[in-house]
Amino acid sequence: MNNNFVSFLSNEVKVGDVIIGGNNPIRIQSMTNTDTMDTFATVEQSIRMIDAGCELVRITAQNVKAAENLQNIKDELRKRGYTTPLIADIHFNPKAAETAARIVEKVRINPGNYVDKKSNKNYTENEYRQELEKIKERLLPLLKICKENGTAIRIGVNHGSLSDRILNRYGNTPEGMVESAMEFANICKSFDFENLILSLKSSNTRAMIDANRLMVERMIAEGLNYPLHLGVTEAGGGEDGRIKSTVGIGTLLKEGIGNTIRVSLTEAPEYEIPIARKIIEFSKTASQAEFFLIKNYKDYKHPLVISESRNTKADLFINNDRLIDKSGNQYPLQKFDNKQIKNSGDLIIIKNSYQNLNKEDFIIKSSLDYSGFLLDGVCQGIWLDTNGFISDEDTVQTAFDILQATGVRISKTEFIACPSCGRTLFNIQEALEKVSSKTKHLKGLKIAVMGCIVNGPGEMADADYGYIGAGKGKVNLYKKQEVIRKNIEEEKAVEALINLIKENGDWVDELN
Ligand code: SF4
Repeated sequence: MNNNFVSFLSNEVKVGDVIIGGNNPIRIQSMTNTDTMDTFATVEQSIRMIDAGCELVRITAQNVKAAENLQNIKDELRKRGYTTPLIADIHFNPKAAETAARIVEKVRINPGNYVDKKSNKNYTENEYRQELEKIKERLLPLLKICKENGTAIRIGVNHGSLSDRILNRYGNTPEGMVESAMEFANICKSFDFENLILSLKSSNTRAMIDANRLMVERMIAEGLNYPLHLGVTEAGGGEDGRIKSTVGIGTLLKEGIGNTIRVSLTEAPEYEIPIARKIIEFSKTASQAEFFLIKNYKDYKHPLVISESRNTKADLFINNDRLIDKSGNQYPLQKFDNKQIKNSGDLIIIKNSYQNLNKEDFIIKSSLDYSGFLLDGVCQGIWLDTNGFISDEDTVQTAFDILQATGVRISKTEFIACPSCGRTLFNIQEALEKVSSKTKHLKGLKIAVMGCIVNGPGEMADADYGYIGAGKGKVNLYKKQEVIRKNIEEEKAVEALINLIKENGDWVDELN
């Protein structure tokens, strides 16, 4: 497990009456998905989130009008006795950011689209510097307003929406994400603006973890100590969304990285809060892992799932002190301590035992217990012992889901779904359920369900197919980054998606 970062202590940033960073508790935040122009609905949803324990509420401000309406939302919340700080979420629109910065306590800007233009050209060193100068010029008015009003800024980098300029030089990589954040952070620093929080998010847990680890290394090297906001974007819903969020956020929290978190689920935002709280709580408890060694395992391809029951889809089941694989090969199970030598062909298996947890606590705790080991390549097999309080089948499914969420073994379709926001024009939760009910058996495919065509195509990153809201009741379908069908009636869109997958030879019928 990576413990290089325990010495990183960020500075404190004041957002309204909430202090983020330093030795303060990890702050929980979420984002509304109502129309920002609908003051009543946004206030009501914010209150549901705050009552559930949300400490900061983010609201999209896609244009100046929406930014101005943040004043009405704020006034109504204060009138009803809620002092929770508000954050404006900005993409593409510096004017909206400048308007919002006078109203709310924090503004999130995305450096990938704040000023940078689309351009596929190769930048010379000179042109690259000139673009940076332009960004600086455009950012200074916002910094000035934020300084005058005590407004904090989050530089929110997304793996899926890096600028062409950054992509051109660094590729779609954790290094590019760090560079993007550093460019903006350096501009802020040159203006003595320190009320800054950084985030580096991705729907890919490994990219998100690598980027944040790298960011901390870079900050330590440069003597910087900005607080970090953690999140896995487009994590989806249900158990998969919970596991993916836990893997990304929890692994970093265990390493002492992260000061505020947002769990993004394709569900009502108030449901994100208890999950966030549990990830924080369980990240503080050590796992009671036991280590075993399997000697001379034949044809190892990917991390294995072990079960005590032979009636599951696990790779190996336990029979007394032996493990038996699907072909009947038997391996003695040996307790392993780090003093023993591991030869190639030997596998390290990690067992964790769980008692009396409800299903949700079990999936969060077990995801946290294994994610670091799997991502860092420490173990080649996982054995979850639930002592009968969860069925063997469900236990084994959770084990496979953890392997999928860490990206070390793919056994089913991966859904990338945004949590929706004020830009969404259809019920994304229903859309995700419809799409996943028809396509969840397509092992190895990544299918994105996104709420809008403004950010959806970029943020679905490396999805194979995209189902993206194009307007009220209308859907666009994508193959990779290319739009293939436009403005399909929502009722016909799932069928059209299936046809598109078939036309591209990626469809298989579901086995009964
Ligand atoms: S992709 Fe989803 S969350 Fe992101 S801006 Fe569009 S609707 Fe909002």
